[in-house]
Amino acid sequence: MDKILVIGTVAFDTIQTPFGKIEKALGGSATYASYSASFFSKPNILSIVGNDFPKEYIELLKKRQINLDGLQVSGKTFFWEGFYEFDMNEAKTKKTELNSLADFKLKMPDSYKNINYVFLANIDPELQLETLNQMKKPKFVVMDTMNFWITSKRKSLMDLIKKVDVLLLNDGEARQLFSTISLVKAAKSALSLGPKAVIIKKGEHGALLFTKDTHFSAPGYPLEEIKDPTGCGDCFGGAFIGYLAKTNDLSEANMRRAVVYGSVVASFNAEDFSLNRLKTLTMGEIERRYEEFKEIREF
Ligand code: AMP
Repeated sequence: MDKILVIGTVAFDTIQTPFGKIEKALGGSATYASYSASFFSKPNILSIVGNDFPKEYIELLKKRQINLDGLQVSGKTFFWEGFYEFDMNEAKTKKTELNSLADFKLKMPDSYKNINYVFLANIDPELQLETLNQMKKPKFVVMDTMNFWITSKRKSLMDLIKKVDVLLLNDGEARQLFSTISLVKAAKSALSLGPKAVIIKKGEHGALLFTKDTHFSAPGYPLEEIKDPTGCGDCFGGAFIGYLAKTNDLSEANMRRAVVYGSVVASFNAEDFSLNRLKTLTMGEIERRYEEFKEIREF
């Protein structure tokens, strides 16, 4: 099993969905991604929180064997406020307070520099790029992003895409970034920049994996109870790279399995607010839902 480096946000989230509201709960792209990856591999977080970040959240991450040597503490924790209407596939941002992220200077622990699997989860693309530049010789790099950075740092994002193995995006972001309504065209444009694969997440409707010669479509899991989809994209990415690091097999067939594991963990995450569902999730439940995924797409 290989280790994973995860750079992203560790945050406080205030979220409103048609099914309830939570205030200043644990969130952040690195939090969800590493928690999800921890079912398969050993994540190492590179991020920053404020002095206001509770010890119990640190303990929660440590209990999952997530290494926090690269988690700096300074100022106030990054804060995001978002809401969803009945179309739960699209998060609407009410407020983003960068706080300590605004002056975050990367300090990469030496023990991180040799890690083979790197997940550049959603954060400022300049920090994603700097992380990559400080790694010795990563074997496999996956990146994610969101509309906030597509709008504010497009040029850095485009430079970064050229250097990664897999680009992860949701459907709206893919259309926005490549100025097209066709997801196939967006994927082709992304592949022409350099990545070996592009994954377009379509919320509850599943995910598409494109390589130069093939494409694969994973279904969404037909969930009856969705409470809060926040972090599903990050959980998807964390489980995807986690499974690949665990198996150390980067064939296209294995990437398809990793996409399904990504969809499985993301579907569990939507069942409750913050990390509440992940906290009780077991590997047995993940494997059972993985088998169900196989059954629902047979015809
Ligand atoms: P997801 O629902 O997977 O797209 O990600 C949700 C998480 O992203 C939340 O927990 C937020 O704290 C975090 N987040 C929101 N806005 C940003 C941003 N601009 N950069 C990085 N992380 C963000």
